[in-house]
Amino acid sequence: MVKTRSAAPEVQAFTISSLPPSPAQRRLALGVVLALMAAFVVAAGPLSTVPLARIDAFVPMYVAAMFVSDGITAVLLFAQFAILRSHALLAIASGYLFTALIVIPYGLTFPGAFAPEGLLGAGLQSPPWLYFLWHVGFPLSVTAYALLKNADPSKQRWKGTLTTASLLSAAVVVAAVCAATLLVTAGHALLPRLLRDTVSSAGPLYQSSAARIVLVNAVVALMVLWIRRGSVLDLWLMVVLCDYVIEISLFMIPVVVNRYSFGWYAGRFFGLISGTLVLFVLLYEITTLYARLVNAILSQRREREARLMTGDAVSASIAHEVNQPLSAMIANADAGLNWLTRAVPDLEEAKAAFTHIAADGHRAGAVIAGTRAMFKKDVRARTTLDVNEIIRGVLAVVHDELERHRVSVRVELTDSLPWVNGDRVQLQQVLLNLTTNAIESMATADGARALGVTSEIHTSGGVLVSVKDTGTGVAPEDVDRIFAPLFTTKGHGMGMGLSISRSIIEAHDGRLWSAPNAPRGSVFHFVLPADTAMAAGRQAARHAGAGR
Ligand code: ADP
Repeated sequence: MVKTRSAAPEVQAFTISSLPPSPAQRRLALGVVLALMAAFVVAAGPLSTVPLARIDAFVPMYVAAMFVSDGITAVLLFAQFAILRSHALLAIASGYLFTALIVIPYGLTFPGAFAPEGLLGAGLQSPPWLYFLWHVGFPLSVTAYALLKNADPSKQRWKGTLTTASLLSAAVVVAAVCAATLLVTAGHALLPRLLRDTVSSAGPLYQSSAARIVLVNAVVALMVLWIRRGSVLDLWLMVVLCDYVIEISLFMIPVVVNRYSFGWYAGRFFGLISGTLVLFVLLYEITTLYARLVNAILSQRREREARLMTGDAVSASIAHEVNQPLSAMIANADAGLNWLTRAVPDLEEAKAAFTHIAADGHRAGAVIAGTRAMFKKDVRARTTLDVNEIIRGVLAVVHDELERHRVSVRVELTDSLPWVNGDRVQLQQVLLNLTTNAIESMATADGARALGVTSEIHTSGGVLVSVKDTGTGVAPEDVDRIFAPLFTTKGHGMGMGLSISRSIIEAHDGRLWSAPNAPRGSVFHFVLPADTAMAAGRQAARHAGAGR
């Protein structure tokens, strides 16, 4: 049984033989065809018979250029075949290999190129016959390519090994080129004459039957490809075939086009275009695809880092938020033990300590649930809240801390505050973070320590809460960074408090920002939108009351 490695179907979205052309590519292709037609009009006009300088090195150069460009195109198409395993790609890759190889005997037999009468001891008829076979062979491979193309890629895949397929087709192509060379050199006497005399490149047969065969063959290939077109490669192969048709039509104009005349050089120009066009397109597409893949990989990497960062942030935030109730629990447990181990145990105080421990335990649980909800953007825990009540609650929690650091507190709460719709635990966390930060910043600063907490109605109709301190203030270079996760200037800090607070406030459709406090310290403000449903309810209740 033959083992097959399957090419992932997703790969097809990244190859020029599968990608459909963009409108811009179609316009460009049309532009190229129009330009070629314009060039044809010039080349086929009266200028065509104007003799130009005979450059013997021209044909070897031309042949070398065709060999290199068609050879590279063949290699790139074989590589595409290796990815997609499509029979059609094998056919077109073989076609390019054929043109790359057949130009060798063409150059070697061309009179004046390597030897006055041409190498290989052939007659004058050899180059035009090779040219004929070359220009019949390539469109045939395009027809084969178009017919082998299948809308369902799974049905057109080569099942054997890639090396066998590539070597087999290369061997067939080499054999065909050798046979053609043998026929037109050793067997040239058997072939009809394509050239009339020694100088002219177009004899009667060339202008009739041979050119017609080449032309019809190219037009058939063009039509088949047109019917089955679909990819970027198809589009540019059609342009190549148009170029072929134009090149061959040059031989059909009813004037004798001598070698080294303007018309003859123009024919070679068209040949060069057909040889290089697909190569340029392949190189361009491969490079842009490469750039797109690099971008995709980079953005994937960034996404992964962001995800890791979020993971870090989640764990750090849980640790950060749970730390405070845990320390309180340890302190209360120590206090409780002290009350119990005294000579005369004070059961009332011990009971109070245990009550505090239980409350702290519940708070830690609520914090964890709140943190999870925050990262999940859960809004189920939201209720209608009075912000003043939350402020008072938080100030009670930090009361001991404030006393320990000898911080005076000035609280100014506006009574007629609108209600807000929010998660109580999360908003407590925000206020707790802001007041703890304020206390910590004042603990390291000299001078009077004053904490100011105010609530008022914001111009937007929402609630504005401000937490002022007379601490160190935020250094100007850190102003933009303090809200970033993991940014901290404290030895023991985690740098999560402000980042969590900001995401909580933003999840509540509010804003949190900081400003310097006068004469020193800083002030942190946040605004929360008023609970409009609640406001409407209140208004309705008022109206109902007035009606009674
Ligand atoms: P942490 O408190 O763990 O450092 P935060 O995110 O709460 O994390 O704060 C980040 C940084 O912002 C702090 O390290 C500090 O430099 C600065 N900062 C926060 N609040 C204040 C404040 N009230 N006064 C001065 N600096 C502050």
